[in-house]
Amino acid sequence: MLSLGIVGAGTGGPAAALLLARAGHAVTLLEQTADPGPVGAGILLQPSGLAVLERLGLRDAVVARGARIERLHGQTAGGRQVLDLAYADLQPRLFGLGLHRGTLFHELYGALGPAGVEVRVGARITALARERAGVRVGAADGSDHGCFDLVVVADGARSALRTHVGGRRRVSRYAWGALWAIVKDPDGAHDGVLAQHYRGAREMVGFLPLGAPNGGAPLVSIFWSVHGERLAATRAAGLDALRARVLALAPASAALLDQVESVDSLLWSAYHDVSGRDCHDDRVVLIGDAAHAMSPQLGQGVNLALVDAWVLARLAGVGSDVPGALRRFSAQRRPQTRFYSAASRLLTPMFQSDTRVLVPRTRF
Ligand SMILES: Cc1cc2nc3c(=O)[nH]c(=O)nc-3n(C[C@H](O)[C@H](O)[C@H](O)COP(=O)(O)OP(=O)(O)OC[C@H]3O[C@@H](n4cnc5c(N)ncnc54)[C@H](O)[C@@H]3O)c2cc1C
Repeated sequence: MLSLGIVGAGTGGPAAALLLARAGHAVTLLEQTADPGPVGAGILLQPSGLAVLERLGLRDAVVARGARIERLHGQTAGGRQVLDLAYADLQPRLFGLGLHRGTLFHELYGALGPAGVEVRVGARITALARERAGVRVGAADGSDHGCFDLVVVADGARSALRTHVGGRRRVSRYAWGALWAIVKDPDGAHDGVLAQHYRGAREMVGFLPLGAPNGGAPLVSIFWSVHGERLAATRAAGLDALRARVLALAPASAALLDQVESVDSLLWSAYHDVSGRDCHDDRVVLIGDAAHAMSPQLGQGVNLALVDAWVLARLAGVGSDVPGALRRFSAQRRPQTRFYSAASRLLTPMFQSDTRVLVPRTRF
C-alpha cells in the first residue's frame, strides 16, 4: 500500500484518487478552493473518457445527466459544410457526451468519501520537498500536509507546481479564447450535434447540448470565439452587436440568444498550451492539464485527464517501485498526449485566428 497526496480536485485529481483508493492505497486529496462546487460551462466527454467513467462505476449516472452527441458538424456562413464527423461511422455504439462540467465534478466528488479518500479543502499547495521517506507537501499558509510515497499533481492548466517536477516543458497561452453562456433549448432543436459555424477563421460560434442535469428543459452551451485583446471591446460593444454577429452566422439561434441577459453575464475562458517530453520525476507526477493543457478544439482535455488517472492507477498498483511506475506511466502516455498536443496546435489557427484561411473540409 502506498501513501499518496493528490493536488487538485478538478477532473484528473478526483478520478485518480478514486481509482487509487479503491486499489487499496491511502489517498489524501488536497484542493485550494475552500468550498469546491460545480463551476464551469460545457465539456465534451469522448468515448475514451466514458470508458474510464464506466470503470469508476459513474458512467450511467453521468450519461443520464448529459446529452448524447452523435455528430460534430461545422459549416461556413455561406452554408458550406466543412466538418461532419459521426461517431457511429467509426463504431455503431460510439457517442460523445455533452455535459456541464459541474455534473462530472458532482459525480466524481460524491464518490470520494465512500471510497475512503481523505479530502482537505482550502489547501493551496505551494511546496513539494524531497525527503528520504518521500515528498513532503506544504501549503501557502505554512501548514504541513505530510510526507507521501507519491505525489500526483493535477492542479490544472495554470499549475503553479509543474515547475517543481523534473523535465523541460513549454507553456504558452493562446491569443484566442471564448465567451460562454448556458441557455435552455426547450424544443431540443440542438439535440445530438455539436455544431459550429465559421466565417473564415476570424469568427466562430458553437452550440454544445448539455442535457438536463437537474431535470427540466435541456441546456445548451453557446460559445463565441474572441481574441483576448478584443475581449474588452467586445464586451463594450454590448449584447446587440454580439447578437447580430452570432445571428449572421447561425440565424436559427435567435431563441437561445434571447435568453442571454447581458454581455457581462458571459463567462470568459482562455486556453493554455503545455507540452514536454516527461511529466514525472522519481516521486512526483503531473497529470491532466498540468502536464498537457491544450486548446479545446479537439475536445480532449477532460478525457486525457481521465485516461491519465486510469493508466497511473493501474501502474502505481504494481509493486512498490514508484520511480519505475512513473517512468512507465510517462512512456505509455507520451504518444497519445503528444499527438493531441501537436494536432491541437496545428488545427487551432484554422478555427481561431486573424487569417482568412478556410478550415479544411473533413468528412468521415
Ligand atoms: C474553474 C474551472 C472551470 C473550467 N471550465 C471549463 C469549461 O467550462 N469547459 C471546459 O472544457 N473546460 C473547463 N475547465 C478545464 C477542464 O476542467 C480541464 O481541461 C479538465 O477537467 C482537465 O482537468 P484537470 O484535473 O487537469 O484540471 P482542472 O479541472 O483544471 O482542475 C484543477 C484543480 O486544481 C485546483 N488547484 C489549482 N492549483 C492548486 C494548488 N496549488 N493547490 C491545490 N489545488 C489547486 C483547482 O482549484 C482545480 O480544482 C475548467 C477548469 C476550471 C478549474
